[in-house]
Amino acid sequence: MTLALAIHGGCGTLPKPEMTEAEWAQARADLASALRAGWTILSKGGPAVDAVEAAVRVMEDSPHFNAGYGSAFNADGDHELDASIMDGETLAAGAICAAKRIRNPILAAKALMLRGDPLLLTGPAADAFAEHEGIDTVDNAYFSTERRRKNLASMKIRELVGTAAEASEAEKHGTVGAVACDTRGHLAAATSTGGYTNKPAGRVGDSPIIGAGTYARDGRCAVSGTGKGEYFIRYCVGHEIASLIAYKGLSLADATQAVLAELSAHEIGAGLVAVDAEGNIVAPFNTEGMYRGWVSPDGLIHVATHGDVELAGQAA
Ligand code: ASP
Repeated sequence: MTLALAIHGGCGTLPKPEMTEAEWAQARADLASALRAGWTILSKGGPAVDAVEAAVRVMEDSPHFNAGYGSAFNADGDHELDASIMDGETLAAGAICAAKRIRNPILAAKALMLRGDPLLLTGPAADAFAEHEGIDTVDNAYFSTERRRKNLASMKIRELVGTAAEASEAEKHGTVGAVACDTRGHLAAATSTGGYTNKPAGRVGDSPIIGAGTYARDGRCAVSGTGKGEYFIRYCVGHEIASLIAYKGLSLADATQAVLAELSAHEIGAGLVAVDAEGNIVAPFNTEGMYRGWVSPDGLIHVATHGDVELAGQAA
């Protein structure tokens, strides 16, 4: 069985000149750490669902990605976090949305999945669930970073002068996600996000919606998306890709390209990572860049932010 692991850190990548080389190097190092965390589990025969949780957790702790620490601000100047996880073997899934105090939202989504029912908890109920499970909770201010504060200020100005539609992908959004195939051929996907900058309080995107921003089903594929969530929900992106593979016999590459083409027709930023039952990996996007990475079958870590893919050593 081919082990596989791929991650993304969102398609809201900054243009190259807007960060120093040291900052880009740190973002790539954080991607590599996320891959190592997931691969350590997979290479010891651990389940795909644990690997995607571990990889997402590392990215939630990095200020470079819009999830956990470093999440976008909503219109009220708060952070509201969405996350979900799905096990392709059992179709078990867990999700939380509009949470304000869970340090690592993916841990709460996984705990909910293990509990089995309900599948999705919102806002204060999600925070209370995490607390009850002994998962770390923090003040909402923990998630704030200077970069996201600047993004909110610039989106507020754009809103006033009517140029919000021209904002760069980096100003607007980002997400983190992971997909994996384990030694037993089981698939899993996980996604976590702060949503988009200046989103209305209470807005929920695609990331916690099973079948939209996150989907995994053995024998078909596992998908984690990034981009304008409203369209990912309308097209049921994760489920649509799995259905094109199951019912139309498309390859993973063809199925993801077909769905990405439909999203792109709306002139929205979009990207995803996906893996199929054979361990094939794709990471397509239609923006200037997408934080992304994967481990090749020989165990080598690959990371990228824009066009160039860099090797970052052996995964385990
Ligand atoms: N999909 C996320 C959302 O709509 C944002 C993103 O991936 O950039 O909440």
